[in-house]
Amino acid sequence: MSKHTHAFQAEVARLLHLVTHSLYSNPDIFLRELISNASDACDKLRFEALADASLYEDAPNLEIRVTFDKAAKTLTITDNGIGMSEAEAIEHLGTIAKSGTRDFLQRLSGDQQKDAQLIGQFGVGFYSGFIVADRITVESRRAGLPPEQGVRWSSDGTGAFETETITRAARGTSVILHLRDDKTEYLNRWKLKSIIGKYSDHISLPILMPKEQWDKDKGEYVLLEEWEQVNAASAVWTRPKKDITDEQYIEFYKNLAHDDEAPLAWAHHRVEGSTEYTQLLYIPAKAPYDLWNRDKKAGVKLYVKRVFIMDDAESLMPLYLRWVKGVVDSADLPLNVSRELLQESRDVKAIRDGNTRRVLSMLEELAARDRLPEGEAWEQLSDEEKARAQADAGKYTRFWAEFGAVLKEGLGEDFANRERIAKLLRFASTVSDAPTVSLADYKARMKPGQKAIYYRTAKTLAAAKHSPQLEVFRRKGIEVLLMTDRVDEWALSFLHEFDGTPLQSVAKGAVDLGELQDEAEKKAAEEAAEAFKPVLERLRATLKDRAKDVRVTSRLVESPACLVVDDGEYSLQLARLLKAAGQ
Ligand code: ADP
Ligand code: MG
Repeated sequence: MSKHTHAFQAEVARLLHLVTHSLYSNPDIFLRELISNASDACDKLRFEALADASLYEDAPNLEIRVTFDKAAKTLTITDNGIGMSEAEAIEHLGTIAKSGTRDFLQRLSGDQQKDAQLIGQFGVGFYSGFIVADRITVESRRAGLPPEQGVRWSSDGTGAFETETITRAARGTSVILHLRDDKTEYLNRWKLKSIIGKYSDHISLPILMPKEQWDKDKGEYVLLEEWEQVNAASAVWTRPKKDITDEQYIEFYKNLAHDDEAPLAWAHHRVEGSTEYTQLLYIPAKAPYDLWNRDKKAGVKLYVKRVFIMDDAESLMPLYLRWVKGVVDSADLPLNVSRELLQESRDVKAIRDGNTRRVLSMLEELAARDRLPEGEAWEQLSDEEKARAQADAGKYTRFWAEFGAVLKEGLGEDFANRERIAKLLRFASTVSDAPTVSLADYKARMKPGQKAIYYRTAKTLAAAKHSPQLEVFRRKGIEVLLMTDRVDEWALSFLHEFDGTPLQSVAKGAVDLGELQDEAEKKAAEEAAEAFKPVLERLRATLKDRAKDVRVTSRLVESPACLVVDDGEYSLQLARLLKAAGQ
């Protein structure tokens, strides 16, 4: 059989260099990555076999086996999943198909720990084997292909890899790690078993390891031919809540989201009614690097009766909640559900609405617990409740800093929930530099006679704070919300009022301070308008192509002039933005 040498795609070579040279803070995760690939491969087989049951050949029980050979210093992970053809091995193990890779490489900071976390986010799983191995050999045969069309792939993780055709009776894949001399600690059953228990317990397939027995003559443990299951093998979301510990929920999340950090919150429910499904949804603590990519895969995986269907089921969550991670397992959808069907199905729509409402409830709860109760309310809590309150305090503020700007998109996207979203908004203001002011907080501080919630949008907080339009508000002690996110203009254009009070941009139209303006001020303004008439005429004439109108205003205190736009028009900021976008 002839061997072929192939060069890694340049990105892979760079990635490998990084994986092997930046010491992972936690090398154990290579096993999690390889087991998760094995499990994915079994999911894929199960999915393809829905259309063609013969792919199961004579081995319908999907499983993952982990074993090692002390003498050869190898550790092997075998699955009987979909397997790879030679072309697939070259493609999947030699290139990175994922579009975000270049982006990833650009974001490398040189800080090993941060970069290692990024690796996790990107799920460059397979290559993590090179943390512990100086050579990886993969032997595989794709389901449905004859035994003679197996493939052996091998590489030392530098610039190139080799492939050759082999004969392999068993369907599926074996990943053989030739361990580095300083990583032989993984040739230990107890150690492997505890890593699997920690990271891979939720895998819904059996993970098997050979049993072990003390050999008197050799003076060491030897592996037997007999295999034993070492994981619980029941998908977390299918188990009753009371049987699942927080640690298990968190571990499941870390696997699902490729995130090192624990989530801020999660919700696990069996929803019954006309559409039955289980939802397990998580709110991450940190935004992913590609939060702003609206085309990226949504974070909710779809299962039907525990069979994995697809992991970019964007129809299960609206775009503005695309950062939510989780699993939906439906009992009602057909197993062969297609993407098109997903988009049209009533059940899917019901699930999506249910998911949306659930996430908003989680956020409302976090928001309610963001500040610690004070005084008597605090005293009344039990010690346990106090501890929980302390653990939850500040979480919503963290959430808002990471995801607030995306949540605002919901004002324009999800009319049905606009009021709930409005309550979750937080802003900086002339009272608070930190974005912690809710519209309700603002309303509670409104001056008697104040008729509107005033806001100012600008590129930066400093620009917003020092804009001349704010002068009169400052003088009268009226709070103004300060908005600096790019989406604010657009999002706020969908929110005309909050709880009966209109929202009014201070940079638009003639600000009517209504009863807040006393008679004397009104009179002075009218007199000034009269007195300045000739000046205004001349300004209008001079600026005729550049300004629609020139008016006398009472909104300024120190500055001589300011620019405003008409009520119904786009603000200057948005006008600039649209112009930049060629509209
Ligand atoms: P990801 O799992 O996120 O796609 P990996 O680097 O972990 O990325 O794996 C790369 C690809 O290699 C997988 O998408 C899959 O196509 C293929 N692959 C890896 N391990 C296996 C396996 N055990 N069986 C079949 N294909 C595999
Ligand atoms: Mg993987």
